[in-house]
Amino acid sequence: MSDPDCLFCKIVAGEIPAEIVHEGERTIAFRDISPQAPTHVLVVPRDHEPNAAATAHTDAATFAEIALTARAVATAEGYDDYRLVFNTGAGVGQTVFHTHGHVLAGRPMGWPPG
Ligand code: 5GP
Ligand code: ZN
Repeated sequence: MSDPDCLFCKIVAGEIPAEIVHEGERTIAFRDISPQAPTHVLVVPRDHEPNAAATAHTDAATFAEIALTARAVATAEGYDDYRLVFNTGAGVGQTVFHTHGHVLAGRPMGWPPG
């Protein structure tokens, strides 16, 4: 449920401060400390899992809440269009091994991502 060494578990527990923008039954959303777009919010499950697939496998309802929360966050910030990214694995840039969806919006974005 919780990993004592995990940064995002500590944010979920309120032990490390973050600018929380949404709180749900199974998830919280807070602003990324190093924003890469005008809106850059991380949506994380309250329960610790290492990546998106692990969360989806353990609790599909939580994974669904992440997707719905991402839309709600974008809407609240005035955006219909947004990108929802789950880096999975150090080789593609995952640095925090607690499931998180990046909600990015507010600027043009290239495809494919770098
Ligand atoms: P990843 O690289 O694992 O996909 O994304 C981790 C994200 O967490 C990065 O975008 C990074 O800026 C963000 N991050 C790292 N440490 C903190 C922190 O202490 N607080 C917040 N709000 N974001 C963090
Ligand atoms: Zn965690």
